[in-house]
Amino acid sequence: MYPFSYTKVPDVRAAIAAGQRGGRFVAGGTTLVDLMRETVERPEALVDIGALPLRGITNAGNGVLRIGALVRMAEAAADPRVRAFYPVISQALELSASAQLRNMATIGGNIMQRTRCTYFRDVTANCNKRTPGSGCAALGGFNRTHAILGGSDQCVATHPSDVAVVFSALDANVRLHGPDGERTVPFADFFLQPGTTPDREHAVQRGELITAVEIPAHPRPMRSGYLKVRDRQSYEFALTSAAVALHIQGGVIRAAKVAAGGVGTVPWKLPAVERHLVGKRPSAALWTEAAQLAAEGARPLAHNRFKVELLKRTVERQLRVVGGTR
Ligand code: SF4
Repeated sequence: MYPFSYTKVPDVRAAIAAGQRGGRFVAGGTTLVDLMRETVERPEALVDIGALPLRGITNAGNGVLRIGALVRMAEAAADPRVRAFYPVISQALELSASAQLRNMATIGGNIMQRTRCTYFRDVTANCNKRTPGSGCAALGGFNRTHAILGGSDQCVATHPSDVAVVFSALDANVRLHGPDGERTVPFADFFLQPGTTPDREHAVQRGELITAVEIPAHPRPMRSGYLKVRDRQSYEFALTSAAVALHIQGGVIRAAKVAAGGVGTVPWKLPAVERHLVGKRPSAALWTEAAQLAAEGARPLAHNRFKVELLKRTVERQLRVVGGTR
């Protein structure tokens, strides 16, 4: 380890001020402390935000469900409103990490977690995300788990969060509070694809604090579910995953929300799949046709070509499960 300061802040204003001075926010600590132990990250000042009043799950009006940034993953998964209206959120959370981690890790921290690319976490390897300009060991290395969508010649690391995939599917928004006040950023704009700056991963500015994730009102009833395909059945990240939510009325799909995980450099929304579904009647043929669109634009690497077909099959299977027609 190396020296760093630790401050516990009593309120949002103090947190923002500490963040402006360069402090790194920490709550559950399940990502950042690991990275500090491995010296992948070396923050000089930790700002503990664990005491801030950001732990509620509330109705924010007009059908919007607000999940405070400091709500633990386990708390969100167990919440009766989440389970009733968005089982896809509960399922994604319960398929993530381990029970111990879910009891510590927060929703805000979950979406801010950093990639599991092994080269990123190996400080002896070249990694543009960790050390800009140093190269990308994954491009010519072992890249079986890496992205087939959204990569660049600088970085092909996947985003590791499951619940961020669900939030993307549901067109959620991130609430931020910073030196200039509060603002809302749609999930579609929150994560940044690597391009030429893979060290820049999200829209959060210096001093800004995530205060909540808000799920907009969706038509009800909405069936939903999350499928995660991985090398082992617990404590493992997704090779592919699919978050699906469907509003079916009068035998017709009126609304479709679909996103994929494990395949993109950011949680990967699938608008072409959604558009193909809306206005049609559920059928086995429809699920197959729609799922073929999931891998549009895919650029597989040397060791992950299998993800192209696996992604289509993951989406198709979850459409069948949620849509109810086999
Ligand atoms: Fe680093 Fe990205 Fe390359 Fe992994 S894929 S080594 S995170 S630059």
